[in-house]
This record gives sequence, C-alpha cells and structure tokens, in this order.
Amino acid sequence: MTPPRAVSVVGFKDSGKTRVVEALVGELTRRGLRVGTLKHTAENIDFDTPGKDTRRHREAGARASAILHENAAALFVDDHVTLADAVTRLGRLDLVVIEGFKTLDTHARILVPREDADVDRLRNGLEIAAVKVPGSAYTGAGLTVLELSDAAGLADLVESKAYPMLPGADCHGCGYPDCRSLGKAILGGDAEATRCIRNYEAFTLKLNGESVPLNNFVRRALTNMLMGFIKALKGGENAERVELSFEVDRDG
Ligand code: SF4
Repeated sequence: MTPPRAVSVVGFKDSGKTRVVEALVGELTRRGLRVGTLKHTAENIDFDTPGKDTRRHREAGARASAILHENAAALFVDDHVTLADAVTRLGRLDLVVIEGFKTLDTHARILVPREDADVDRLRNGLEIAAVKVPGSAYTGAGLTVLELSDAAGLADLVESKAYPMLPGADCHGCGYPDCRSLGKAILGGDAEATRCIRNYEAFTLKLNGESVPLNNFVRRALTNMLMGFIKALKGGENAERVELSFEVDRDG
C-alpha cells in the first residue's frame, strides 16, 4: 500500500509547533481530507494511567495492551515502533502531519524557528516553508514565511508540495543516493514520488518485513505462477492487486 503524503512540523522546545499543527490540521480537515497526526517525544512519558486495566495488564507482564471501544481505540506497546509502522496503524489517510522527528529525511517539513539561528539547524533540504509564531524572534530570513494566522496559505502549500512518505531505506533503487535526495528532486519538480521502487514497485517480496531485490526474470516467473492459481479462484479474473503473506513453519 502506498503510504499517505506527509509533512512534519519541526522546531525546538516551546517554538509553537503544536499550534502550527493545530492550525494546519484544522484547515486540511475542513477541506475534507482524512488527516492523521504523529508526535515524537524524547521524554520518558508514562503513556497509560496507573491503576487502569490496560496498565495493570502490562504490569502483569503483557508486552502490549489495547483497549477497544466501538468508535475509538488506544494501543500501548512497550517496544520501539517505527514511524512507518505507526503510520500504517493510523489507518487509511490522505495526509499525515508529524510533530517533531527532526532527524528524519523521508518527507517534507515546515520549520518553526524561535529565532533566525534556528533555521540552519532545522533545515535538511526538504523544508517547504517556515511559520512565524507570535512571540518568536524569527525575522523571516531565507525561506517562504507564513504567519500562524494564515492557515489557508499553509494548507495550500502542504497540499501542493507534500509527497508520499519515503521508506528511509536509502537503497539507491530510485537512482538517487538516498531518500532525501529523491525528496529534494520531488520538491524541485525534477522527479515523481513513483520513482521509489519500495513504495511503488508492482511486485514486492518481503522476508521478515524486509524487501528483497528481484530481477525481472524472477519477478515475472513468480507473477505468472501465482496468477495461474489466482485466476482459478472466484474473483481472481478481476484481480488488480494481490497481497499474500504467510508464516514459514520451520518444523514441518
Ligand atoms: S528507492 Fe525509495 S527507499 Fe530506496 S533510496 Fe529511493 S526513495 Fe529511498
């Protein structure tokens, strides 16, 4: 599945990132887009409430716990979850707005500088604008600058610039040395996001979650063999996309 388009809002502590995310999400949602958000924190936060059932389940030894309601759910996982995994768990979205994750080069970003000196520390070549938040000492040098009150302008920019999140594998498969280079080319109008073979390749094989490079002969042979079986199934004649995943039984 192709990941949704993404943009992150990056800045240092107390720069006003959350206010920018609120303004952007509010405007994009008003326009009818399905928007999800993700936030990074470096703090060791206790995500669950002491005494609640899910917390007690994990204190008893469960590595993960979920609470489900008809219209809502919360998931508590005592493990590292990658950004890509988290995006998948957010469900079908048009756009993900990410707060933080300054070190990631997989998507476009909006800077929220507190002062001019922040700009160079936040740039990675994928910035599409900076937002001047009231109270900030940033004078607006060197970038497309929007005021926080201009949510429509910010949303226009994101709608026109944001591209599907790249995998971050830096595998050279697109012909660029890394994902950031393809991202820069997309923002510059020199490449399409579809060049990422990991996001768009018509046939992918993953072993233990990792994509395996295939040559044309193997790709064609596997496709023909599988389609021979699938076409014999009900609905198989009309198949446009096939997803197959199974566990290997090592004992037998
Ligand atoms: S093919 Fe995709 S994952 Fe590989 S470097 Fe290019 S953008 Fe990154």
